[in-house]
Amino acid sequence: MPFELSDTQRAIRDVVRDFARREVAPGARERDESGAFPHDLVARLGALDAMGITVAIEDGGLGLDTMTQLLAIEEVAAADAALASIYTAHLLALEVLTLGATPEQRRRYLVDLANGSKLAAFALTEPDAGSDVGSMSSVAHRDGDAWRLRGEKTYISNAAEADVLVVFAKSDPAAGFRGISAFLVRRDSPGLSFSSPQDKCGIRSAGTYSVYLDDVMVSPEDVVGELGRGASLAMRALNGARIDVAAMANGIAARALQLATQYATSRHQFGEPLRDFQAVQLMLGEMDARLEAARVTASWAAAAKDAGGDLRRAGSIAKWTATEHCAQIVDMAVQVHGGAGFMRESEIERLYRDSRILRIFEGTSQIQLLTIASALAATFDETSEVVA
Ligand SMILES: Cc1cc2nc3c(=O)[nH]c(=O)nc-3n(C[C@H](O)[C@H](O)[C@H](O)COP(=O)(O)OP(=O)(O)OC[C@H]3O[C@@H](n4cnc5c(N)ncnc54)[C@H](O)[C@@H]3O)c2cc1C
Repeated sequence: MPFELSDTQRAIRDVVRDFARREVAPGARERDESGAFPHDLVARLGALDAMGITVAIEDGGLGLDTMTQLLAIEEVAAADAALASIYTAHLLALEVLTLGATPEQRRRYLVDLANGSKLAAFALTEPDAGSDVGSMSSVAHRDGDAWRLRGEKTYISNAAEADVLVVFAKSDPAAGFRGISAFLVRRDSPGLSFSSPQDKCGIRSAGTYSVYLDDVMVSPEDVVGELGRGASLAMRALNGARIDVAAMANGIAARALQLATQYATSRHQFGEPLRDFQAVQLMLGEMDARLEAARVTASWAAAAKDAGGDLRRAGSIAKWTATEHCAQIVDMAVQVHGGAGFMRESEIERLYRDSRILRIFEGTSQIQLLTIASALAATFDETSEVVA
């Protein structure tokens, strides 16, 4: 870790590390093959008080800092990226509630989600609206006091397993991005249905589903934040949650580096262990440097989050840096393994597939760079005002 950890951070990291190594890692390969959603492990994360680490104590969480949450995510990701993905998707939905929920919504939803007795999902993406959120076609029509939701979401993590979904739909279709609102939808709501789990290249046991909204009725008390401000709420939630994805990338990268180091020690060619060859040392050195740079960046963004800063730039820089470094680190770890790294039986092959999603979900790498550039442009504008 780049910075000295506090006693609390170290204690929570050690508890999650112990759980991840003893209970999560041993079955990761089998779950990758079966694609079975790990209900028991999600419940165990809840029992460990890990599902709402940064949520306020009165809202069911531990009220701790973001760095502590990053440490927990890293440990889970190093053992099984699929479980880490379920975890970070839940945290993304929680981010919406911590930013926008009323006291009553906190009491009715957030407490159980943060204490881990319930699971959440965040349903934004649609078949024709991914990066371009404003083009979504799900609608929310007024029906008396209530709202009637119609539409389709896709690639939604946790959806059919979640107790509650944060669903985004247009309450004012003519207003585009500014006509989107956020709704809390319980899984047992009439009119709500799901596809079977979508078959994926990696994080295979982290269930991903299409969600069908067929006249789902939502009461006015279940609108999160202001009407028409849902897209902005989603973006603010994503800015914060992208730091969690950075931690997931760092956990996978740390495991890849460990596997590569072990393999370079045990594998001999030309009468020597691989680690004695300078070409292999160059790869290991580069992997370590990339990982540490990514961790420092995530820690910096975590500090910015705890200080209440604007996370558009910091969240995107943390995610882009960690996920791009992770891709390089895992690729080099496969290279260190040679042919063994390409075999289904090797753990690094799973990490290679699991890590690919990191540069796609919660905003692609291109969207992160565009977000950073737009925050930078705003800084230029502020600077030129000052100069003028
Ligand atoms: C396993 C998995 C889990 C997911 N979980 C969730 C979830 O829980 N909730 C949820 O709401 N969504 C979820 N998603 C959806 C995910 O966030 C989207 O896939 C992602 O935002 C990209 O959208 P898209 O797939 O429609 O790609 P597109 O937006 O169609 O992008 C395709 C390509 O075009 C590029 N591109 C698009 N627009 C621009 C632009 N303006 N400038 C430059 N390049 C651009 C992209 O970078 C990308 O390379 C998940 C996806 C996957 C695969």
